[in-house]
Amino acid sequence: MHSAADTTWTAQVVSAGRKYTAETAPVVNPARTGEIVGTYALAGSRIVDEVVRNAQAAAAVWGPLSGAERGRLLHAAADTLEQDMASRAELLTREQGKVLWESRLDVGGAPALLRYYAGVAPAVDEETVVRDARGTTVIRRLPMGPTVVIVPWNYPVYLCMMALAPALAAGNPVIVKPSEFAPLALTETLRLLASTLPDGVVNVVPGLGSEAGAALVSHPGVRKVLFTGGTESGRAVLRGAARNITSVSLELGGNDPAIVLDTAAVDDRLIREIRRSVYTCAGQVCFNIKRLYVQRGVYDEFVDAFRQAVDEIVVGDGLDPASTIGPLNNERQLASVTALLEATRGAGARVDVLGRAADDADWDQGYFMLPSVVTGLPHDSALVSREQFGPTVPVVPFDDVEDAVRMANDTEYGLAASVWSEDTEHALAVGRGIAAGSVFVNSHRVGSSDMTMPFGGMKHSGLGRNHGMWAIDECSELQALSHRPDTSAFPGPPVR
Ligand code: NAD
Repeated sequence: MHSAADTTWTAQVVSAGRKYTAETAPVVNPARTGEIVGTYALAGSRIVDEVVRNAQAAAAVWGPLSGAERGRLLHAAADTLEQDMASRAELLTREQGKVLWESRLDVGGAPALLRYYAGVAPAVDEETVVRDARGTTVIRRLPMGPTVVIVPWNYPVYLCMMALAPALAAGNPVIVKPSEFAPLALTETLRLLASTLPDGVVNVVPGLGSEAGAALVSHPGVRKVLFTGGTESGRAVLRGAARNITSVSLELGGNDPAIVLDTAAVDDRLIREIRRSVYTCAGQVCFNIKRLYVQRGVYDEFVDAFRQAVDEIVVGDGLDPASTIGPLNNERQLASVTALLEATRGAGARVDVLGRAADDADWDQGYFMLPSVVTGLPHDSALVSREQFGPTVPVVPFDDVEDAVRMANDTEYGLAASVWSEDTEHALAVGRGIAAGSVFVNSHRVGSSDMTMPFGGMKHSGLGRNHGMWAIDECSELQALSHRPDTSAFPGPPVR
């Protein structure tokens, strides 16, 4: 067994127990950039061809199993994934940067999601039978075939499982393309998973998005792509999938607004909930709050209390128990958030840089950034209109609720949103006006959405819905099997 502190981790190609050789690239610890945590294979189109063939062969074994049989195998796989989660969580913090409890949540999500869809799997076989005077139609779900799951770096294990578990339950073999910025803990998780299932049912192809990712989405043997990542990459995936009319579901970026009404109780709970929503994972969660609209009557009180709470944040190595947030995941992300903040300062906004560095943080050796709160900026500034994906948030005052809803909707995104008020009925009514896939009242963070609620984005935030049976239907073909002996009532001109 590896200890997470080994520097020997490699994310290799996993497919049908075979060995594949490829060049490798390093994975750097974002809290100590001099430390190489491991390497990942740079798979190209030759390896992609072979892995797709393995998945096609596995489709002939996995697809015909009953849902109940697949469920039994997935339950057993979840048992395996529950072992030694602590070392995979530590590894995830070393490659991703986030604090250890978040990595535990991420890694712990894998067996939990697998178990949930193991329980759902028997329902995949349920057929709807429609009988009427003309005959009978059976509506049934069929697996689609080799399914590609493309994963981002912020919550790699959990987000992969959110797509992979329903795809497997629905009878599809899966090929995962991890992010080049956090491939290690995910590949290790999937290596374990693959070892418990028939050969070729779970495959991993590490590599670059522009090479391994692009080759997978445009491959004629792939029938479904489940993509989670940025909106620009989502567009490239759609273009690649167009070649073979491959079905695509997209979970993309968000620029989530939160509207705090005059009727909100600006107390400790509200302030801490909103702080948690903004700064979790150093602001790098797709449905973190990214913009705050606060009604004038509580604006000053809110901003004062919020700045004080944000000032308690301690930034450092995610493995240091003193840290409340870790560094940003990579240099590109740090440069992008820094540039947004500089542009905002240049436009005359007030940027309060708060919190402090952990005593042990090697500040110049990590992609660290202190949390900030930005006020005095117009609604059309870039920090408001773009997804910042970092530990900062703009706070914009408003007078009329209609204006707040208009500003909340004035975005290309539509992933999630929240309304905060003691008047729940009013908050729910305001929420009805917001164009987002999920709208929460008095909460807005990991845990706010669950399997009983469809999850996905409107507008440029995505295509399709995850969770529950919605996720099963995203990766199933629906077939109508119909026998209607009496065609006399069908429309059409009389046949002479
Ligand atoms: P990204 O788009 O840069 O990369 C995501 C994945 O796509 C990586 O594995 C990458 O290698 C791959 N990829 C990139 N270009 C590709 C191409 N042309 N073809 C195939 N694959 C390609 O995103 P990121 O920087 O890893 O993640 C951050 C983004 O993801 C943010 O915008 C965030 O909001 C979004 N996100 C969305 C959700 C959601 O559920 N809606 C969840 C997490 C993250």
